Amino acid sequence: MQLIIFGPPGVGKGTQAKILSDKFNIPHISTGDILRDAVERKTELGLKAKAVMESGGLVPSDIMSGIMNNVLHSERCSNGFILDGYPRTVNQAKTLSGMLNTLPNNAVKVISLTADDSIIVHRLSNRRLCTNCNHIISLTSIVNENECPDCGSLGTMTKRKDDEPEVIRQRLDVYKEKTFPVLDYYSKKTNIISIDATRNIDEVTESIMDKLK
Ligand code: AMP
Repeated sequence: MQLIIFGPPGVGKGTQAKILSDKFNIPHISTGDILRDAVERKTELGLKAKAVMESGGLVPSDIMSGIMNNVLHSERCSNGFILDGYPRTVNQAKTLSGMLNTLPNNAVKVISLTADDSIIVHRLSNRRLCTNCNHIISLTSIVNENECPDCGSLGTMTKRKDDEPEVIRQRLDVYKEKTFPVLDYYSKKTNIISIDATRNIDEVTESIMDKLK
């Protein structure tokens, strides 16, 4: 199965992608996670991406297509994948179509998660990320904000630098201007599965599973 999980920052793409990855036994490919890991390890890619990411902008598409080309042609994606955070522009979507055409079974499905800006801003402001296992949680759903409820690490829950209020606003602007038009690109190629992501995590998953049948 080849899935693209699409939607504004903070709508729950990463959370749902991880759940679907376990259910279908296909890898969750998050370009944000790949970039954050590179920044953390101070690789050449990380050094190029750091400032752009912290300001809420987009990493140049030629860098992104290099990453995606390697990932999609790797062994772990041979039975499919879930893309989270890519494509983020119409140009990236066109590049991706070209890459998918070179794979044996090209039948990508697009899931679009939707929520109003007010919900997005609230979720992003309350979001914490475990630097050990990449687990994402909302402060509203945990008892001890110093302990990762997934891997149990202590002191690893951090706020992403791009989850600060002024960067959130910038990311939403970038989403509306550059990423939202990607939906229009796919609506001409396939039936987009649109999901109301304002409900709780299990309900959203159930709704996705139902529509994927
Ligand atoms: P995310 O975790 O998906 O919210 O991504 C975090 C940041 O990584 C974004 O705000 C961008 O700066 C960068 N990024 C992730 N995916 C892409 C992409 N496909 N194209 C350009 N920049 C990206």
